[in-house]
Amino acid sequence: MLPQSAYLHVPFCTHRCGYCNFTLVSGRPDLVGPFLDAIERELSQLGTPRPVRTLFFGGGTPTYLPPAALERFLAIVQRWHPLEPGGEWSVEANPLDVTPSLIAQLAAAGVTRISLGAQSFSPRKLKLLERDHSAEVISQAVSMVRTAELQVALDLIFGVPDETLEEWQADLERAIALAPDHVSTYGLTWEHGTSYWTRREHGELTPVDEETERAMYLAAIATLTAAGFEHYEVSNFARPGFRCRHNEAYWLGEEYYAAGPGAARYFDGERSVNHRSTTTWLQRIERGESPIAERETLSKDDRARELLVFGLRRLEGVSAAWFLAKSGMELRPLLGERGQRLLEHELLRWDNEQLSLTQSGLMIADAICAELLREYPRFQSSARKYFKFPAQLMSKSSVVNLGRLRFLYRIS
Ligand code: SF4
Repeated sequence: MLPQSAYLHVPFCTHRCGYCNFTLVSGRPDLVGPFLDAIERELSQLGTPRPVRTLFFGGGTPTYLPPAALERFLAIVQRWHPLEPGGEWSVEANPLDVTPSLIAQLAAAGVTRISLGAQSFSPRKLKLLERDHSAEVISQAVSMVRTAELQVALDLIFGVPDETLEEWQADLERAIALAPDHVSTYGLTWEHGTSYWTRREHGELTPVDEETERAMYLAAIATLTAAGFEHYEVSNFARPGFRCRHNEAYWLGEEYYAAGPGAARYFDGERSVNHRSTTTWLQRIERGESPIAERETLSKDDRARELLVFGLRRLEGVSAAWFLAKSGMELRPLLGERGQRLLEHELLRWDNEQLSLTQSGLMIADAICAELLREYPRFQSSARKYFKFPAQLMSKSSVVNLGRLRFLYRIS
């Protein structure tokens, strides 16, 4: 069975936001042409077209591409990864880039879903996050996507310096008022190497405290579920029938293709990740060399462990029968003593042979996953292995910043 999903990474942004450490270049429109040549060469390595059921254009900002470049990109991807009838095709978009003609171009190519990097409706937060759009621009973008009858998803950030619960609550309500199909909420993460990190070191920015962040996450769950959204993954909420099928494929341990700088694929039992540097990725492809920076073949045990931690991100959790069928391993023995402690502390629960996070567990989902990986000899070097999973898998909209290990240790 060949992979049924493909991820394409578009590494361009107008400006690098202060908190962002994704694979991208800013202010390099001169690299758009070489990028398209390189992605065409990388995809041609597939040999024959590989139809898929889900396509995801992430970045960076895919909508940074000017119309002619976007047209060529769409044609290249359609040639190598034609979307099967009924498939899902998501494109991440910057609200300021959205115009009727852009949406018409994407819809004509077969795109089904636009994921808008809204982040907030508060002028204060948007300015602090160095975003170039306003609340009004988000509303206009949503209405243009709706007019074209495409699905619309909104990303929101909480835990921005000096943010209050009231400010976050207002963001949630503004988002709901736009009636999106899908909402992702994620806590601001402080990444080493970003200007936010440096500003925090210099005392210019102060993270919100853990309790406020926790209250914000709980407010998101309460407000969005009360508005009819299904909380289906740690950070993701969807109207019934509108989950992101592409991301579900990651969380369900399915295989997937990928292309572009920093993109990760999982295929034939091997996980491989392209060079994160856009220029290195370009140069390697131009020289006819492999763009892959790292590859590893997952053993049966590694694979089972990954299935468990990704599966637990879904609120439904992991069923013992599904796990056995998919990994060939029994779930209960795999949990070991650490898993048992998590059960005793009511961070995990068993219910009808289904293992899932409790609400307390949700608050520290990342720490729990790290703890479960730590049990395993291969991961003993530290829980870092888990956090090293490519950003594309964790997704910039999938991170909850409440997973501090020390918090877990305090409990246990
Ligand atoms: S946060 Fe989004 S828009 Fe800002 S630099 Fe990162 S990828 Fe680009």
